[in-house]
Amino acid sequence: MKNLKLASRDQKKRTIVNVSGVEVGRGLVVIAGPCSVESEKQTIETAHAVKAAGADMMRGGAFKPRTSPYAFQGLGLEGLKILEKAREETGLPIVTEVIDPRDVSWVAEFADILQIGTRNMQNYALLKEVGKSGRPVLLKRGMYSTLSEWLNCAEYILSEGNPDVILCERGIRTFESYTRNTLDLSAVPAIKELTHLPIIIDPTHSTGRLSLIGPMSIASVAAGADGLIIEVHNKPEEALCDAAQALTPEMFTGIMSQVRPLQSFLENSMPAMS
Ligand code: PEP
Ligand code: MN
Repeated sequence: MKNLKLASRDQKKRTIVNVSGVEVGRGLVVIAGPCSVESEKQTIETAHAVKAAGADMMRGGAFKPRTSPYAFQGLGLEGLKILEKAREETGLPIVTEVIDPRDVSWVAEFADILQIGTRNMQNYALLKEVGKSGRPVLLKRGMYSTLSEWLNCAEYILSEGNPDVILCERGIRTFESYTRNTLDLSAVPAIKELTHLPIIIDPTHSTGRLSLIGPMSIASVAAGADGLIIEVHNKPEEALCDAAQALTPEMFTGIMSQVRPLQSFLENSMPAMS
């Protein structure tokens, strides 16, 4: 891809994004937590549960880009303060979404990673702003976007002087309706061919089905993903957002007990994928 000046693979060696001591791009980094921050109790309980299961970072949305304007939109500042408390209690770095360029500078004071959601992947004003934020960025793939369009969006962030971009494949729209989206796992080796940036997989939004999250997490690790981002809720039946796809802490613990050994096995027995 000739137009990529900074994101292209041949520009430099693999990028490792250091997030308060957690290195994305080395081993397997697992980010877990609720779709949205709903209350202090829900968030803190979930944070402790995912930490106990071995997660490296905590996720939770304070600003939710919902399909319907009448759906729960997130707690905003109050949600960010709750996330800050979860970090204080568990030590887990926080990944949270920002949806408005005007909010980037103050949301960056709370977040360890700023997430750009699928619906905003091509929001160029937002990309430029997070490029200036001084925070690592998790750039989700647009649900209708090609790899080239996605990498050009990463280029927007890099060209503002922010080298810390992590890509996240979260499924694309196809004719299939059994799953919420179609997980494009070939994006992992393809992205590694095209760019030096790390790539993680979101098996939650890509499948939208509890029973498929574990198998696709395993497949993601086998495909060489640098990490996973998974939705976990202390009480999924009470979740205000994406309730049907939220894992219980027990289910998440089960998946962790499979993906960690698989990652170690692959690291020790397969030649490094470079
Ligand atoms: C999310 O991670 O909570 C989210 C809204 O994801 P996506 O942008 O991939 O739909
Ligand atoms: Mn969600």
